[in-house]
Amino acid sequence: MIDKVLIANRGEIALRILRACREMGIKTVAAHSEPDRDLKHVRLADEAVCIGPAASLKSYLNIPALISAADVTESTAIHPGYGFLSESADFSEKVESSGFIFIGPTADTIRLMGDKVSAKAAMLKAGVPCVPGTPDALGDNDKENLKLAREIGYPIIIKASGGGGGRGMRVVEKEEDLIKSIELTQSEARTAFNNDKVYMEKYLQNPRHVEFQVIADGQGNAIHLGERDCSMQRRHQKVVEEAPAPGISEKLRQKIGKRCVDACKLINYRGAGTFEFLFENEEFYFIEMNTRLQVEHPVTEMITGIDLVKLQLQIAAGEKLSLKQSDIKLQGHAIECRINAEDPASFIPSPGTISRYHPPGGPGVRLDSHVYSGYAVPPFYDSMIGKLIVHGESREVALARMAGALEEIVIDGIKTNIPLQRNIVTDSHFSAGGVSIHYLEQMLAEQQTP
Ligand code: ADP
Repeated sequence: MIDKVLIANRGEIALRILRACREMGIKTVAAHSEPDRDLKHVRLADEAVCIGPAASLKSYLNIPALISAADVTESTAIHPGYGFLSESADFSEKVESSGFIFIGPTADTIRLMGDKVSAKAAMLKAGVPCVPGTPDALGDNDKENLKLAREIGYPIIIKASGGGGGRGMRVVEKEEDLIKSIELTQSEARTAFNNDKVYMEKYLQNPRHVEFQVIADGQGNAIHLGERDCSMQRRHQKVVEEAPAPGISEKLRQKIGKRCVDACKLINYRGAGTFEFLFENEEFYFIEMNTRLQVEHPVTEMITGIDLVKLQLQIAAGEKLSLKQSDIKLQGHAIECRINAEDPASFIPSPGTISRYHPPGGPGVRLDSHVYSGYAVPPFYDSMIGKLIVHGESREVALARMAGALEEIVIDGIKTNIPLQRNIVTDSHFSAGGVSIHYLEQMLAEQQTP
């Protein structure tokens, strides 16, 4: 039984978790930093605890402060949201050893999947297709490494096993650059991730990013909820997401989905998770697993009619997965545009007070956002202030609906990327569907050179 959840996050995802808890009759505790007192979920929660000053290291990443907050409020469980401590094995471990339920996988699973070399090895064992590459971390034998790269074939990409957030990667086009690039990536990885393990992969030149949503109960049951296309990225950051991915056949969806489900069963996965793939020439290549709820989970919810946060809570409470694979039916098409407080051309963050706020509405329109008129966006955290999600019976309808909603929405007082999102959803290549991970940056470069 879970009767009180401590929300160890902020912004729109904290509000999203609060809403699911309320519907299930679960009490909530908002653990927030000093400048976040005015967040919407802090006002709505049953209780609020200030866990530290603005700096994330002293608040949202402060494990002892979060555990104490759960203690004094007599919470039963902790939801980490995404980002912050959501993929920290140490946090999961500490939460459970302190007698609380961690709403997510076990520390062992997070550790296994957080290391890309061990994650890939586990996936290969489960029959999940991976990018061709080295099965282990690279040793220091130059001759051997040159041989391995030649076998994979150039261009190759050197990746840090402990890397994340699009950092710790280097593409090598030709043999003479290999050894120097391995050394550079190793030393960067040592500084950034305190782990200098690196490995090599074939560099795919023009792939799409397609990921599968899974949910499993850690008791032998797992299902997938189809895929999302998140190819519209800038600097490896997703900007627009959609579900289903354009052009993926039902047969291929079920084939890859089943592999992900088998992998969940193999590692006895518990909770919501995402298998990220690169997709090129009709082939899927696993790159990594995210052991948490994703920012873009709403597009999956819209086409399946399933509340992923409620499922997370049920599983964390020890319930068996109530859904079977045959219960999952995909309906229509959903698109999500991330709304960021930033300059739409320079991408420089634009914190400040929102003077006027009018959310869009109408059939099939969902806005997951914590902002309101008079709310001051603080300069300390991620610039995402909301997600505009639309659902329609077809991709065409969803695109038209998104274009309308982006016209309707008003956020004054700060700069936002809404003008960029308007350009994206009316762009002819994006509208046609199936663009690669490089398309958005190409589109932006063309806009800058008229
Ligand atoms: P992170 O954990 O930092 O997000 P990922 O392994 O998920 O790292 O890779 C992030 C992005 O880097 C991918 O979405 C893709 O754009 C690019 N990338 C990673 N591996 C490859 C590869 N083998 N070929 C081409 N691009 C890649």
